[in-house]
Amino acid sequence: MKPVVFITRKLPEEVVLPLQEKFTVRMWKSESESVPRDILLKEVAEADALWSVIADRIDKEVFEAAKNLKVVSNLAVGFNNIDTEAAQSKGVIVTNTPGVLTNTTADLTFALLLATARKLIEAESELRKGNWKSWTPMDYTGMDVGGATIGIIGMGRIGEAVARRAMGFDMKVLYHNRSRKIEAEKAYGFEYAELDDLLIQSDFVVILAPFTPETKGLIGQCELALMKKTSVLINVARGGIVDEEALYDALKNNQIWAAGLDVFEVEPVDPNHPLLTLPNVTVLPHIGSASIRTRIGMMNLNANAIIDVLEGREPENRLV
Ligand code: NAP
Repeated sequence: MKPVVFITRKLPEEVVLPLQEKFTVRMWKSESESVPRDILLKEVAEADALWSVIADRIDKEVFEAAKNLKVVSNLAVGFNNIDTEAAQSKGVIVTNTPGVLTNTTADLTFALLLATARKLIEAESELRKGNWKSWTPMDYTGMDVGGATIGIIGMGRIGEAVARRAMGFDMKVLYHNRSRKIEAEKAYGFEYAELDDLLIQSDFVVILAPFTPETKGLIGQCELALMKKTSVLINVARGGIVDEEALYDALKNNQIWAAGLDVFEVEPVDPNHPLLTLPNVTVLPHIGSASIRTRIGMMNLNANAIIDVLEGREPENRLV
């Protein structure tokens, strides 16, 4: 009998075809809706490989339901939706898609930073509503990006790519990690800062760390209180890293100037979420890696990892 692959979202034919040539492939029918939990648990019971997306909670219950599972391949670089300890204890390999999405996500991060700083979305929507009556001296005035200080929390692959883009805008680059990146400091002049110093000094604070027990709620009331009144917070990492209630208060009380968010604690975010009532928040529906080439590249990494594991080879991008 051929090994069984279960894919939790409807994916383009071209990326699924190489799997269909070798294995029995089952795929959830919807592109936009998550697979219901009961179907996931039923399918995983028979699957040799699971191809998941970040909206799927691949927890202990899933691994316990699985009888033949050898690999979970996640369509993302972040893997906070997967209980990797449970995977390891069951001897299941987990893979992700790093690298291929670095530049695309850095582009989006910078686009969101510019859009938030210069009120692009607000200005565009006012024009469309017919509210552009005349040139005005101070309407839609924002914050300068050129020459400002950017502080990157999580200076990894994407963080560094954002920092290199910031150099093109003559920005001073501060970063905070658990470990220093001496080579990048020497090559580009990036400066390491403790978290508090970075928050105090930066005009733009950009979060690009993974979502882990350590980074959960990393930016809360105390951290936001350290930021400048004129500063902008950009989060393209994961929602849970920022305390959304504290962020709402800081924005509402003009403790910080604005925020640009691609990610939320609960996704999709409720359109009635308090943060969405604020004029100084720019929001996007988690589209960091969303270019055609990158998404197809990510999917090809997932497909290759599944083929490698099911054919007895070591896959690329193995997490556990
Ligand atoms: P990466 O190369 O692993 O970089 C993550 C960086 O975060 C590392 O340099 C790490 O350095 C630092 N870090 C880890 N824990 C930290 C902590 N407690 N405090 C401060 N820094 C910490 O990952 P990447 O490829 O750049 O991706 C980063 C994250 O972006 C992913 O985990 C994902 O959640 C998110 N992402 C979002 C989108 C989107 O669509 N919005 C797209 C792609 C990625 P140390 O180990 O030295 O601390």
